[in-house]
Amino acid sequence: MSKPSPEVYEQGKGMDAHNQAMREIRSRKEASYDPHEPTRVWLDEDNTPDGVKTSLTIILNTGGCRWARAGGCTMCGYVAESVDGGSVPHDALMDQIDVCLAHEAENADAPADLIKIYTSGSFLDEREVGAESRRAIADTFADRDRMVVESLPDFVDREKIGDFTQHGLDTDVAIGLETATDRVRHDCVNKYFDFADFEGACAEAAAADAAAGGDVEAGIKAYLLMKPPFLTESEAVEDMISSVERCAAVDGCHTVSMNPCNVQRYTMVDDLYFEDGYRPPWLWSVAQVLAETADADAIVVSDPVGHGSDRGPHNCGECDDRVQKAIKDFDLRQDPSVFEQVSCACELTWETVLERERSFNQPLTR
Ligand code: SF4
Ligand SMILES: [Zn+2]
Repeated sequence: MSKPSPEVYEQGKGMDAHNQAMREIRSRKEASYDPHEPTRVWLDEDNTPDGVKTSLTIILNTGGCRWARAGGCTMCGYVAESVDGGSVPHDALMDQIDVCLAHEAENADAPADLIKIYTSGSFLDEREVGAESRRAIADTFADRDRMVVESLPDFVDREKIGDFTQHGLDTDVAIGLETATDRVRHDCVNKYFDFADFEGACAEAAAADAAAGGDVEAGIKAYLLMKPPFLTESEAVEDMISSVERCAAVDGCHTVSMNPCNVQRYTMVDDLYFEDGYRPPWLWSVAQVLAETADADAIVVSDPVGHGSDRGPHNCGECDDRVQKAIKDFDLRQDPSVFEQVSCACELTWETVLERERSFNQPLTR
């Protein structure tokens, strides 16, 4: 079994039992990687505060999430490998960026407006991406419109955001908050920080926004997780409605991305699923949260991964593609009437689940 190294700063945070279980589960996975290649890169379109933009999404390989090395989140199957020296060196990170630029040049007609960089960890954690690399990456993309970088809230500060805004780039920090409810985040997800830390990061982004002047924006994009393990379908819906509303009310947070949990291999969710103790959320639940929070003071979007499959968010199998399409329409238009145009006989089953499922009898259906 892999052991967290002594410098893993997260020791003592989170629930020791969760961490121990997750370390054992993750240790079943063999992983290796090339530090000169990004984990993934793709082109897409995204809804931003300035409208729909072409986007280049980069998953940088920075050696994996440090929290995952300690055990980490109950639903997350990202690689938890440690690397020699604990991080990927500057030159290798810049090689990864070059691979991404080559991919874009080959597959897009024009450079993307929006660049999104995820690391399966924290781009703003200098043990993952040093200040030199962060500034070089900001220089590389200085001619684009907008950047999104992923980080846990502890590492967000106005100076780091300033490395991007000084080039005139609108800058968002994507934070995997998962839920605004501290108890659910700690006990169901096994994340160590509090909503107050998220509010602190939003305040840093708001300060960076003020410092950047009127033409350049800085803000926070909150990522929420619908239905972590141990919540019933109705508890998950309630948790998301209140979380979207609480996030949208925080100054500095302009977008909420609310995403249904899927069953990833080598996770606690996978073990529960295998023992009939977990069902991913219904797509009807996603639609309900989006419809009920449509007037929140933020863009609210959802991108259900693996929709329609047993391990992803799903309905009955007949209507999954139609509901997914309505969700994607909502993402671009923010108009809840898109959901009035889809219906299916399985809505009755879903309503029954909402009414009857209790923690001790879940999941009520597959
Ligand atoms: S969800 Fe994020 S913080 Fe949690 S283990 Fe995965 S990469 Fe790390
Ligand atoms: Zn159906």
